[in-house]
Amino acid sequence: VSNLICDLDGVLWTRKSVLRGAREGIQLLNDSKINVIFVTNNSFVPLSELEERIYGLGFEGNCRIVTSPMVAADLLPAESKVFPLAGAGTLVALENMGHRLCDLADQPEYVVVGLRTDFDYQMLTSVSTLVRNGAKLIGTNDDPAYPTEKGLLPGGGAILAAIATASETAPTVCGKPHPPMVSYIKKEFNFLPINYVIGDRIDHDGEFAFQLGARFINVISDASKSNNKDVRSVNNLFEAIEEIINLEDSNEISKL
Ligand SMILES: [Mg+2]
Repeated sequence: VSNLICDLDGVLWTRKSVLRGAREGIQLLNDSKINVIFVTNNSFVPLSELEERIYGLGFEGNCRIVTSPMVAADLLPAESKVFPLAGAGTLVALENMGHRLCDLADQPEYVVVGLRTDFDYQMLTSVSTLVRNGAKLIGTNDDPAYPTEKGLLPGGGAILAAIATASETAPTVCGKPHPPMVSYIKKEFNFLPINYVIGDRIDHDGEFAFQLGARFINVISDASKSNNKDVRSVNNLFEAIEEIINLEDSNEISKL
């Protein structure tokens, strides 16, 4: 039995639109013996909503999801005082782990950065001052951009970079392909060998696969640089799962 890690944004959907081949790919997965863990750097959408969306595509298994804010929440010491510069997904993840969310004025020990669409110069000023004064800078992810129906939009990584530059501080980054996510997956899934990673960012998902010793299959999206000849690229999730099933079959044959 093989274990697969599957990305969400750019593989199953772009923001709210389901991608071609996603439902069909989920159906193939349901009919196969492949175990899947969904792993996303998305810091914005709460876990419960991600779960609903995946089941909404027809997924029938036990839905295991890891998000970059879950890794950030796990990394912080218990009951940390945190200022979240992020969306609902990060707030919920931090609260679920028992951290205390606070305002800028309450002297937070940590600033956790995700995606905030109302981010502006005022916020950059306040947060970078906080970091200069000793608050630790944690990034849920450093994704430069994420695919939407209207093309790429700036990701949490763009906001994190602004704060890191303004405060002259190197952040700890939690999401794919960084060490906290790799360690979290290993620990949480009991060092289960991961055989395949499907994703649409060669720099992040591809490197993450490498770190886990897994084979990478790139699903082409706006975020993929598909001119990389060394990377196996397919058009959608259906083709990616088909490819894995073929690889599994040829492994079976070579064992005979
Ligand atoms: Mg993606």
